[in-house]
Amino acid sequence: MEKNRIYLSSPTMNGLEQQYIQEAFDTNWIAPLGPNVNEFEKEFVSYLASKEPTESFENGLYSTALVSGTAAIHLALKAVGIKKGDVVFCSSLTFAASCNPIVYEGGVPVFIDSEEDSWNMDPKALRKAFKKYPNAKAVIVVNLYGTPAKLDEIASICSEHNVVLIEDAAESLGARYKGIQTGTFGKYGIFSFNGNKIITTSGGGMLISDDQSMIDKARFWATQAREIASHYEHKEIGYNYRMSNVLAGIGRGQLKSLDEFIERKKKIYYTNKEALKDIEDIRFNPIPEDCQPNYWLTCITLKDTSKVKPIDILITLENNNIEARPIWKPMHMQPVFADCDFISMVDDPKGISGKIFECGVCLPSDIKNTDEDMERIIRIVKGFWGSR
Ligand SMILES: *Cc1c(COP(=O)(O)O)cnc(C)c1O
Repeated sequence: MEKNRIYLSSPTMNGLEQQYIQEAFDTNWIAPLGPNVNEFEKEFVSYLASKEPTESFENGLYSTALVSGTAAIHLALKAVGIKKGDVVFCSSLTFAASCNPIVYEGGVPVFIDSEEDSWNMDPKALRKAFKKYPNAKAVIVVNLYGTPAKLDEIASICSEHNVVLIEDAAESLGARYKGIQTGTFGKYGIFSFNGNKIITTSGGGMLISDDQSMIDKARFWATQAREIASHYEHKEIGYNYRMSNVLAGIGRGQLKSLDEFIERKKKIYYTNKEALKDIEDIRFNPIPEDCQPNYWLTCITLKDTSKVKPIDILITLENNNIEARPIWKPMHMQPVFADCDFISMVDDPKGISGKIFECGVCLPSDIKNTDEDMERIIRIVKGFWGSR
């Protein structure tokens, strides 16, 4: 990576990772299984459990480490039993990985608009979607940029309809809703350790559930669906989705820094917010009551009437070798999902999510950004409003 560039969200190693990788090398566990994988799975759920127990922890919480968050969503959908033609509701304002696995299984994604309060799935729109598609089979709710959705409301709508909730907590590891860790509200929770996430294994993911038998089943699918037999016996189609023991070593080291990383990200959010509070055109990604985000990315939106447009900020930051990004382009606006339905509470085909996309910018939120880096970014943004 480039030395003088300011990144949006790049990996931050703490040194402990090397120790676990060394162990993997010393014991020659260079495979998609081994002690680091087993320990990472355990340490991961005990991290979640150590922060306010939930009902599901009373029955225990189980996990399987995978090659990616996308693989975790895929296996969660297989565990639910999604088949050809099944409708699955999914937040529209997200990264494509949230919904691509629906299509892998032949399911039909129906996208749900955001609410203004949290930018996440609007519970009202979800209710409306159930009226139109009473036979929907699952809901995938995303905690965007590390801010929890209205998870208890969404979970209770799902139980009213007897539908499984899958929580895409890829961006929200360590965030809490009403004191409870995100990823634990649905029957399945998924996490990502991709290079841009709050902790990383370079690439990786985790599937969690309080249902031990389904986690065992997911692990079985993830290791090529090999039956217990010394010869190679297969009764089902499998996948090569298991996390490498070397990468799990990175994950074990990273997990030890998670709380510190959240603090750092929180500081980035509030430093920007404080410094830009006098610019009326700028709003920050909202943090509703009851939410303790992990502040993965700090985002702003610009008022419709603002003379400054997101693209101006993006270009100027880039010219200064600073990485910023637009907000995710909602799935209902993506060419590949053009045939999919979109449920919104507003009378506008873009929906609330489309508007957030059009006026939003993700600001650099890298853990390694220094106070000087932040000052530089703020000075450039302020400059647009003539207050350098
Ligand atoms: C990153 C991400 C994923 C996918 O995780 P990978 O590990 O990259 O496969 C899924 N959903 C959301 C919301 C993400 O941001």
